[in-house]
Amino acid sequence: MKIAILPGDGIGTEIVAQALRVLGVLDLHFETEQALVGGAAYEAHGHPLPESTLRLAQAADAVLFGAVGDWKYDTLERALRPEQAILGLRKSLGLFANFRPAICYEQLTHASSLKPELVAGLDILIIRELTGDIYFGQPRGRRESPDGAFAGAEEAFDTMRYSRPEIERIAHVAFQAARKRSKRLTSVDKANVLETFQFWKDIVTEVHAQYPDVALDHMYVDNAAMQLVRAPKKFDVIVTGNMFGDILSDEAAMLTGSIGMLPSASLNAAGKGLYEPSHGSAPDIAGKDLANPLATILSAAMMLRYSLSQPAAADRIESAVQQVLASGLRTPDIWSEGTRQVGTREMGDAVVAALSGNITKKTIKG
Ligand code: NAD
Repeated sequence: MKIAILPGDGIGTEIVAQALRVLGVLDLHFETEQALVGGAAYEAHGHPLPESTLRLAQAADAVLFGAVGDWKYDTLERALRPEQAILGLRKSLGLFANFRPAICYEQLTHASSLKPELVAGLDILIIRELTGDIYFGQPRGRRESPDGAFAGAEEAFDTMRYSRPEIERIAHVAFQAARKRSKRLTSVDKANVLETFQFWKDIVTEVHAQYPDVALDHMYVDNAAMQLVRAPKKFDVIVTGNMFGDILSDEAAMLTGSIGMLPSASLNAAGKGLYEPSHGSAPDIAGKDLANPLATILSAAMMLRYSLSQPAAADRIESAVQQVLASGLRTPDIWSEGTRQVGTREMGDAVVAALSGNITKKTIKG
């Protein structure tokens, strides 16, 4: 097994280093190879996704990704900006299914903006279609409005579209994921207004016939946004399109307290995936040993589970993270009264110690 390691920019290098230390103490055999991506790759090779990085990602069984971007690149032409590397990887690896679990650890319920009783024990999975929808639909652009009340005025437009195979494949992924959990799936759409999402709803309903053991319900996106903050624990698995998923998964992220805790996986039809924290490169705290590495460490656990067939090792990492939180260690983003603040590296040390069975008061609480 080969893992491509793409740390990227900002805190990307710091958090990926901790995830690699964690992977290193598991008794597993895999090869890793690092490459530059994002702003770091632009500086070295003049492109955020150089050919050599793309080839490495294509040849590997999985990709562990940190984060890319820095405000200093905002004036570059769009094709050369660091974030284009993510779009390029998604496209070339065919990563159409984005898994974002939102888990509220018992020890962090106070860090959520919602009342503790609403989020305690929260464990939901949002599955977002990642390669279609209005983000990629053609035509798009700016023009002179051809008709209507504002004919002749300057206008901009995008195209929302989904094909049957695109909806079918994400629906299968979602039903299969729901089957492995509590067998409940909510498909989020806007079928009352949008033709594209009436089509989505019809096809998800058709695919449901192949998964009679999974209970399916449909919800409009505006209601889903409301229910996520009213009674989030009523959900188990949510499947939705690219744009609705983009918005709802960030909303769900905040239920858990900090974006520094949230892993993600983007998978293709062969089960190959790119694993990354849900946050960005956080230039404001980069290089200061302040970043929370847990989202990246938990992304590595997802990689072991979904792409490298090592579910037991994934469970070990997740339970080590729980032990570390239970021991009272916190990076600044999740710190609260009565807990001990640590930096990126010390948080990594603690997870490594927990995995090695050395989680004692001495090693963890200092
Ligand atoms: P961000 O996620 O980088 O940061 C938002 C806030 O969350 C900041 O205050 C940051 O300090 C904090 N934060 C993020 N991750 C954290 C962690 N692990 N521990 C503690 N605090 C953390 O989003 P932004 O500031 O809007 O964007 C910064 C750069 O990242 C931009 O260039 C943006 O384009 C890029 N970005 C990249 C990705 C990616 O690589 N997948 C995703 C989002 C944004």
